[in-house]
Amino acid sequence: MLTQPISIDSRMRIPIDRCTNPRLDAEAVANFKLSNVPSDHLYIAEYAHKEWRKERIAPYRPLQLTPLSLGLHYAQQVFEGMKAYRMNDGRVGVFRTDRHAQRFNASLRRMAMPEVPAEMFANAVHTLVDLERDWVPPGPDSAYYIRPFVIATEERIGLKPSEEFMFLVGGGPFRPVYPKPLRVRVERYYTRAAKGGTGFAKCGGNYAAAMLPTIEANEAGYDQVLWTDANEHEYIEESGTMNVMFIINDVLTTAPLGDTILDGITRDSILVLARERGITVDERSVSVTELRERILDGSLTEAFGVGTAASVAPITTVGIDGQDYNLEIKPDAVMFSFKQQLLDIRTGAAPDMHNWMTIIDGYVK
Ligand SMILES: *Cc1c(COP(=O)(O)O)cnc(C)c1O
Repeated sequence: MLTQPISIDSRMRIPIDRCTNPRLDAEAVANFKLSNVPSDHLYIAEYAHKEWRKERIAPYRPLQLTPLSLGLHYAQQVFEGMKAYRMNDGRVGVFRTDRHAQRFNASLRRMAMPEVPAEMFANAVHTLVDLERDWVPPGPDSAYYIRPFVIATEERIGLKPSEEFMFLVGGGPFRPVYPKPLRVRVERYYTRAAKGGTGFAKCGGNYAAAMLPTIEANEAGYDQVLWTDANEHEYIEESGTMNVMFIINDVLTTAPLGDTILDGITRDSILVLARERGITVDERSVSVTELRERILDGSLTEAFGVGTAASVAPITTVGIDGQDYNLEIKPDAVMFSFKQQLLDIRTGAAPDMHNWMTIIDGYVK
């Protein structure tokens, strides 16, 4: 669902305590020396007595937390990952804030945490980006990465759902994490997500549980795990922090959404663009057996990951039961046309037909 842009007059002004000695400088950002470095400000709101309050933006600094914060022990934690882009005309735009707010709240509900009203979420993100607009780097693969998150802060030893939380938004200049084509290994033992579990939520625990399997895949020479279903380890789900797509006989094929799949906003955007271009889309589970056969008979021509971090990441090798299957990556591949189309929308080179971009202007006086 598209939300109407909030008029500037109806926006709540967030109190800002400006940073007086910036940690980053514009030249460093432009010269692309920085990646995953937090920028100068942090947005914070606190939840207690069943309401969000004390919204503010302050210089980036360590938090004060009681060591007995429930979130540190029982992983009541949820996050988002989204980006602001430097457009060709110099303006700054944020991609699909409304969808990120929606997914944030779906994750929060699953983790028994209070929702953040979509307008509050949007205002927090957009105000922070407006304040930090100088840190939004130019260039096709660069962006300002935005990290909204909520943590449980109530002090307590015993297990219970927290009644106190912090909502924070930070960010920083970013360059892509998957510059090279990926080697992925089909996971036949470990499970990322099971029916009824938390796979669809962007909650910290999911990623902690994926680290050991990923390290083992790395040690075997792969970049990422290609996750399979929890029951049979036979149906492809997704990979790392990316949804996975295949082109099979010219059909764009990807796993259907459900409670084991993260509802990726890049995934959704590419499916919208593909359907508009008349490309057939099939949201269905692909088995490992089918994957192997279709790579071998040449009907599977492309495999790629899609996510905010890398946008589109080509997969060059799929490891299945100790055997590597290779895919040729052609410059005129369909995946690159999606990547270009997304880039054009984000930079303003193509019209934003779906109102995916919010132009950031006037949030900070
Ligand atoms: C964030 C994420 C994705 C991609 O979602 P985007 O909204 O496209 O960034 C896919 N899978 C997992 C597990 C993720 O955490």
